Amino acid sequence: MKWTHMSNKKHIFLIFFVFFGLAAPISFGTKYSLSAASSLSISIGLPHNGALKHGEVLPSKGSGYQLLNTAKERKARFGVTELVMLVKHATFKVHQKHKGKPLAIGDLSKRTGGRFDHHASHQNGRDVDFGFYALDNNGHPVALNGLVPFDKNGFSIKPAMKYKFDLKRNWALVRQLIESPYAGVQWIFIADHLEQLLLDYAAETGVSPTLVRKAEQIMKQPSKSAHWDHYHVRIYCPANDKPECKDFGPKWAWTR
Ligand SMILES: [Zn+2]
Repeated sequence: MKWTHMSNKKHIFLIFFVFFGLAAPISFGTKYSLSAASSLSISIGLPHNGALKHGEVLPSKGSGYQLLNTAKERKARFGVTELVMLVKHATFKVHQKHKGKPLAIGDLSKRTGGRFDHHASHQNGRDVDFGFYALDNNGHPVALNGLVPFDKNGFSIKPAMKYKFDLKRNWALVRQLIESPYAGVQWIFIADHLEQLLLDYAAETGVSPTLVRKAEQIMKQPSKSAHWDHYHVRIYCPANDKPECKDFGPKWAWTR
């Protein structure tokens, strides 16, 4: 009888441990908040002339995203902790609310940052490329395993007309990026015609004009490239990475 009693107690302990020990890391609740002390990573210099110290690796898969093979092959899966948290959290929140298929994540930076053949920036752990959420011809969410370009009507260009830009989930992602508790987003580089689709969708679905205005400021088509097949997201220097880390360009009033 005594043994059975102990065993039950152990079981209760085990259930408690499994629930809180395993559930907490994916819950993104208050227990998983990122403090300055817990981030050892340091972003050095500028995104187009910099380096990364103690970069954190983005796992191949998470609840809501999947790292592209190109990023794995190029070993471009490192960022400051704040950026890695941003990717995990934003895609998790979109998935939690809307379900569907995982989002493709492209390059971050190399382990120690520095020059990168495929990008002018992505050098100091503060840049990451996100693919787009897409639907198939029947309106069902589909996982894209590459960066697919979309036209001004929201149809895929290559492969032609095979996919539709999923406004609901793409807007949900933009919103998560603007409101991220883990990092201040400076830019979401995206083609003008896709930005317009997102802003129109937000306005039509009753999003507050304040948030729409923030989205309008933060989304931008860089002059050199169109970004019609991915979002390029850049975060500000984490507070504890200064003064080595350098920001340039606008500082939005709503970011920390
Ligand atoms: Zn990029």
